[in-house]
Amino acid sequence: MENALYMDNCYLKEFEATVESVKDDKYVILDKTAFYPLGGGVAYDIGVLLRNDEEFPVVYVGKFDDKISHEVSKPGLKQGDKVIGIINWEKRYKLMKLHTTAHLLASIFHNKSNALITGGKIEPEKARMDFSMENFDRAIIDDYCKLANELVQKNAPVKISYMKREEALKIPDMVKLANKMPPEVEILRIVEIEGIDRQADGGCHVNSLKEIGTIEIVKVENKGKNNRRVYYDVKG
Ligand SMILES: [Zn+2]
Repeated sequence: MENALYMDNCYLKEFEATVESVKDDKYVILDKTAFYPLGGGVAYDIGVLLRNDEEFPVVYVGKFDDKISHEVSKPGLKQGDKVIGIINWEKRYKLMKLHTTAHLLASIFHNKSNALITGGKIEPEKARMDFSMENFDRAIIDDYCKLANELVQKNAPVKISYMKREEALKIPDMVKLANKMPPEVEILRIVEIEGIDRQADGGCHVNSLKEIGTIEIVKVENKGKNNRRVYYDVKG
C-alpha cells in the first residue's frame, strides 16, 4: 500500500498527514500513515494525532476496504485537517522485536524438524507461535531457542525489499513465497534475515537481529500433533 509509511520505514515514529475522511466522529482516514493496522497476526499501533496542540488519542487501528482507519477517542477532527501522527514507540518497538523473533524461530523450527507454522499471534505482552511437529518436547524447544539466541548474538541485518511476482517465480526458493500470496498481489514485499530466512511479509521488523535482545520461551502447550504452541518473549 503506497500510503502505508511503515512499509518502507519501520522506524518512522512521527509523520505529517492530511485527514481524508472522518466517520462517526471517530474513524479517521489519512492521506498517509505510519500507524500499523491489526493484521498478519500482529497487534495494531496506538499513539496520537496532533492538530496544532490538540491531542486526539489513537486507540485502535484497522484496515477496512484496503484503507487504514484510525479510531480516535476524542471527536472533532475534520476532513482537510493537517495533523502530526505520533506512534507509541514502546509498544511498536516491542512488536517489531517479537515479529522478527517469530520469523527467526519459524525458520529454525522448520529447518531443524520440518515443522510447519500453522498460526501465531503477536501482542506486546503475549506472543505465540503454533506449529505441527512430529516429536515435541520441551528440551527440543529450549535447544531451538538457544540456537536462536546464538544467531541474535552473531547479529545479521534484516532487510526489506520488493520483487515483482514474475521475477520471484523465476528464483527457485522464492517460488514458494510467491505462490503463497494471493494472485492479485503483483509486487512482493520481502523481509530477509540475511543468510537465515526470507518471507513475503507486510509487517514491521527490527533492522538487525541484535536489537531483539534475549529470547525466552515462556510456556509450551501440546494440543496434538498439528497443534503445538510456544509462547515466547524478548528481554533487554
Ligand atoms: Zn511476519
